[in-house]
Amino acid sequence: MLMREEILFWLREKDPEKLKELWARADRLRAENVGDAVHFRGLIELSSFCRRNCLYCGIRASRPGLTRYRLTREEALSCVQKAVDFGYGTVVIQAGEDPGIDQNFITDLIREIKARSSLIITLSLGERKEEEWIAWKEAGADRYLLRFETSNQILYNAIHPKAPDTVWPNRLDLLRRLREIGYEIGSGVMIGIPGQSIDDLARDIELFQELDLDMIGCGPYLAHPDTPLGKIEQDPDLGKQYGLPATEDPVESSNEMAFKVIALARLVCPSANIPSTTAIATIDGKQGRTSGLSRGANVIMPNLTPMEYRALYEIYPHKAAALETAEQTHAIAIDQVKSIGRFPGSGPGGRKK
Ligand code: SAM
Repeated sequence: MLMREEILFWLREKDPEKLKELWARADRLRAENVGDAVHFRGLIELSSFCRRNCLYCGIRASRPGLTRYRLTREEALSCVQKAVDFGYGTVVIQAGEDPGIDQNFITDLIREIKARSSLIITLSLGERKEEEWIAWKEAGADRYLLRFETSNQILYNAIHPKAPDTVWPNRLDLLRRLREIGYEIGSGVMIGIPGQSIDDLARDIELFQELDLDMIGCGPYLAHPDTPLGKIEQDPDLGKQYGLPATEDPVESSNEMAFKVIALARLVCPSANIPSTTAIATIDGKQGRTSGLSRGANVIMPNLTPMEYRALYEIYPHKAAALETAEQTHAIAIDQVKSIGRFPGSGPGGRKK
């Protein structure tokens, strides 16, 4: 068990020579526990409609001027076909919390994917009704991703206003419920949210271990200028207005900090599946993605969303691969994985405890 002091030590460490120790330890544990295969999870961004108003998110309900889209069944299934053609083991179906996607649409999609392929299905559709989660599990869905975003409840409540009909106390309870329903569960946090402290981040990492997460996805917070939180840099007084906690020990939103979190996540959950995320690739391109894979990560999530919609799923600006086709994204990902002496994984790539 990693102690809080050790987590804090690494989160505060700045010396690149010393940090090499952390990177090497995480890489060694990754090789020992999940091997050299890099699992490709094909990402399908199903809908950019969202009923929530998260202060940080570029697809929040009240963002003006964003053209919204929702893939049709046939469009979604043609993304699925690409995952099959590329040899992926998993598709991740992600969307804003969109009431326009109903239970039956997702149930039918899951059944159709399972009928046509041996793909594993990961859902990332936000806080949905329990009966929907149960129905989707029964239809064949395998995994559910729901980031808790930050363990600091004051910060979380400030940046993540509740939906009017929310009955659940918090996302940690939701994750526990998802596991009871039978899903493999994934969660994670944003790194460098205004108001987040190093102590908060250390607690986040302890929580990965306590929740015994099967998947851990983390990336830097990237300011979107058309969101309330994205305007804070210009007007720091807004922090008080939004009720953000004051901290003297803020977390920087950088790839180095994200790599530390990936590496520490590997240390606390050695057998978890950990992606080198799109937010990391957005800051540093190819370099970012491969560095993540060399510092504890074993998963990437190439985007399969049709090119005409990708830029519209704009959770933050300049999102990596927003102007590529699925074929281009796939070819680039293969090159990146090979460039560091690793190879694409085959099969479901589930967590082996
Ligand atoms: N609606 C679902 C949910 O809330 O889990 C899934 C979609 S949501 C857009 C997926 C993730 O995007 C969130 O969990 C959040 O961590 C990330 N995200 C949103 N805005 C971001 C930003 N400005 N910077 C970095 N990550 C962001």
